[in-house]
Amino acid sequence: MFERTPMIAGNWKMNLSLDEAVALAQTIGSGIGDTSKVEVLVAPPFTHLAAVRGAIDESRIFLAAQNMHWEMSGAYTGEISGRMLQQSGCTHVILGHSERRTLFGETSEVVNLKVKAASFLGLIPIVCVGETLEEREAERTFDVIKEQLDLSLDNFKADQMMPTTTILAYEPVWAIGTGKTASPEQAEEVHQFIRQWIENTFNTGTASQVRILYGGSVKPDNVKTLMTEPDIDGALVGGASLKGDSFVSLVRYREA
Ligand code: PEP
Repeated sequence: MFERTPMIAGNWKMNLSLDEAVALAQTIGSGIGDTSKVEVLVAPPFTHLAAVRGAIDESRIFLAAQNMHWEMSGAYTGEISGRMLQQSGCTHVILGHSERRTLFGETSEVVNLKVKAASFLGLIPIVCVGETLEEREAERTFDVIKEQLDLSLDNFKADQMMPTTTILAYEPVWAIGTGKTASPEQAEEVHQFIRQWIENTFNTGTASQVRILYGGSVKPDNVKTLMTEPDIDGALVGGASLKGDSFVSLVRYREA
């Protein structure tokens, strides 16, 4: 069986001053020790990317942006291209986060364009999907997730190939920043569904290699139980990634 390397990813959102971001990156870099069995990633705001890149250069931490535009360049005031992200040192990009979907009207069709551009450039997309509380209560979770996957990854479907480096993140909207975590069983059920979708849409090999992160109020005290589930391959963390000690504990979850 293919062994997937766990990933702990911190999404800093629109938080931290430049100095705070650099200091946090340094704290994480020195605190995580030998992380060869866990991949670590941070996603600072655009303006902090280059400085954080400098602060993590000696460490094994990957750098991601939180969004990008799908065109390579042009008259798109206020936007940032994938190529620009690479020039700032990014290897990954978070796409389709629920805050982009709900607050900025980003549709799965738009996410698909971004995923396509990122993959073309060799930037690894971390593609987020997740249902709202209303959708869960209406027992529409699986339909919503399927539709988001179908549309957001439509370009991979057209190519009949999903790069196995692609990372997916299941983030139930009702659990993001609310302190409510999906139980390990609730999360695993959806992760299993997503892995089955990959198998049905592509093949078993791809399904066994693609990592699926869980996101939604992950904290040092719940990460270990979530990580015991077979289809949960890591965590995408908001709040608890903003403090060096809690993020380092998340990365070192096996030692707790
Ligand atoms: C997120 O924003 O991706 C997230 C999961 O946030 P939090 O950990 O704060 O719920």
